[in-house]
Amino acid sequence: MSEFDLIERYFRPLTQSRADVPLGIGDDAALLLPEPGRQLAFSMDTLVAGVHFLPQAAADDIGYKSLAVNLSDMAAMGAEPAWASLSLSMPQQDDAWLAGFAEGFRELAQAWQVQLVGGDTTRGPLSITVHICGYANPGVALLRSGAQPGDRIYVTGNLGDAGLGLARVLEKIDVSVPYCVQRLQRPEPRVAAGLKLAGLARCAIDISDGLLADLGHICESSQCGADIYLQQIPLSAELQNYYQSQPDWNLVLSAGDDYELCFTLTPEKEAEILAVLKQLGTPVQCIGEITTQPGIRCHHPDGSLFAPDGKGYEHF
Ligand code: ADP
Ligand code: MG
Repeated sequence: MSEFDLIERYFRPLTQSRADVPLGIGDDAALLLPEPGRQLAFSMDTLVAGVHFLPQAAADDIGYKSLAVNLSDMAAMGAEPAWASLSLSMPQQDDAWLAGFAEGFRELAQAWQVQLVGGDTTRGPLSITVHICGYANPGVALLRSGAQPGDRIYVTGNLGDAGLGLARVLEKIDVSVPYCVQRLQRPEPRVAAGLKLAGLARCAIDISDGLLADLGHICESSQCGADIYLQQIPLSAELQNYYQSQPDWNLVLSAGDDYELCFTLTPEKEAEILAVLKQLGTPVQCIGEITTQPGIRCHHPDGSLFAPDGKGYEHF
């Protein structure tokens, strides 16, 4: 199968037709017709075999996750995803792998009405780059720089599941944790929550490198600090059951790959925003407050401070 046949077979069918795409896959470039008056949110993420996923991971999970991590960036901006392009480098043409990859990607693209409008296909080490673009309404995008002392810090969902799932996949633990493995392989991007939070929350970030690292970015950009209360960190039943009495806080706070949102709310708007999220069915939990004092302090229930080992995943 030629490179062109491959694109026709696996990638063109991924495309649904959006009104703002006059020309999609097949020419030298796609043509887009953005809605007037809206801002474009632009982001890209790369997944490299052996770094972001195990080379033997299921192809559909890799396809799903390559779009999920990008949708999570749209969620963290409070943006509405619209278009994606895909750069795929793979060592050889493997039809079963491509079909699986395309299926996983399609699942999420369809769920969020994202149109794949182009890409590039090359031979090389397995690596996937997805570029995503969406709409933000002027003045309401969720920046990292908006937190203020006194804001309440919230997270969606549970933290640490993906870290425990990874420990299982790497055979570092010998207890089966299927829910956590699922959370690692199929994170659900919080796009709907991000859209509701736009213009209401003060700031947001998605938790890809672990809460401490990502909340750290909010604190740096906003020139503030944070107090976090460990007993308020939301944990799944499976993770609690695995750890019994005391969770591995380093894993929960720093393993990353959670793709939940961390956001802050001014106390005056808290009730209104929580009602909106409740209606949406998004679980959220207050985990602490923004402070003027720089740095992040994690409090145990007895008042002592937890000293984390590291800061979260860093490539270099
Ligand atoms: P060019 O030679 O101009 O770089 P290509 O042969 O790489 O063009 O691509 C032909 C068309 O197929 C383009 O519209 C491109 O955007 C699209 N395309 C190539 N690879 C992918 C892919 N992995 N996913 C989606 N579209 C792709
Ligand atoms: Mg090309």
